[in-house]
Amino acid sequence: MKEVVVISGKGGTGKTTVTANLAALANQFVLADCDVDAPNLHILLNPKILEEKPFYGGNVVVRHSDRCIDCGLCRVLCEFEAIAADGAIDPIKCEGCNLCVVKCPMGALKLVPQQSGTLYFSEIDRALMVHGRLKAGGENSGKLVTQIKRIAAQVAKEYGCEWAIVDGSPGIGCPTIASVRGADAALIVTEPTVSGLADLKRVVQLVEQFRVRAFVIINKFDLNLTVTEEIEAFCGDRDIVVLGRLPLTQAVVEALRRGELLVRQGRPNPVGDELNAIWNQLNACLS
Ligand code: SF4
Ligand code: SF4
Repeated sequence: MKEVVVISGKGGTGKTTVTANLAALANQFVLADCDVDAPNLHILLNPKILEEKPFYGGNVVVRHSDRCIDCGLCRVLCEFEAIAADGAIDPIKCEGCNLCVVKCPMGALKLVPQQSGTLYFSEIDRALMVHGRLKAGGENSGKLVTQIKRIAAQVAKEYGCEWAIVDGSPGIGCPTIASVRGADAALIVTEPTVSGLADLKRVVQLVEQFRVRAFVIINKFDLNLTVTEEIEAFCGDRDIVVLGRLPLTQAVVEALRRGELLVRQGRPNPVGDELNAIWNQLNACLS
């Protein structure tokens, strides 16, 4: 099984569109949506949820008020100002550090797991999909991503899948690191803008740190041909294969507005053809 993660320097570059369309071209695959802070692969693929379960990202403190003598020590000790003057504990501010629990003279505090998101196991056309969603302010997106990838790997093994296709988190933070770690290839979707090129350089550095082979797809390449050529030159200098260039056409805009896959549009379909060529080239590079 080969794991391919699709990432980008920031959100809104077309990463999820690319993921969904490549998945439509794959055979025997499992799909994982690891963009847990802003998941939208389900909007394009409309999965049927088979199972959902809570995700516990960390612990939060709770008080047994019958034991508390209101000495105020916990409030003074808490660096995160999670305990208000009236003793109310703010679960968003509490970092679960355990300090107040061990220092409370009455043993009135304890840590309990806090649900910070939900894990879903779903069915899409021809495949199974693992995805998740963090609650607003929910913590530990890297841990949720790691769980999604672990379940996807188990599913791939159980069903003999050839591919795990992962919609990774954008940026270079903890969830992106968790998305990239252990993958066979990272497809970095970028756009030809000055900030897009700067973001690409940072993401490439991250991917290389984890010894994952990087590939690049330039989305909306015709927005700025000069920067497109700069991106290609940067990739050439680092031996990174540019798998393809996707144009921004009215047909693309219309298909996205209708929530349709680009590879399933009627002919002529130059963008669908380019996505097919990208998929074939990736297969050839990884075989
Ligand atoms: S330290 Fe314990 S006893 Fe004191 S206010 Fe906090 S919970 Fe109550
Ligand atoms: S567990 Fe740590 S962060 Fe949470 S209320 Fe206690 S001292 Fe504050």
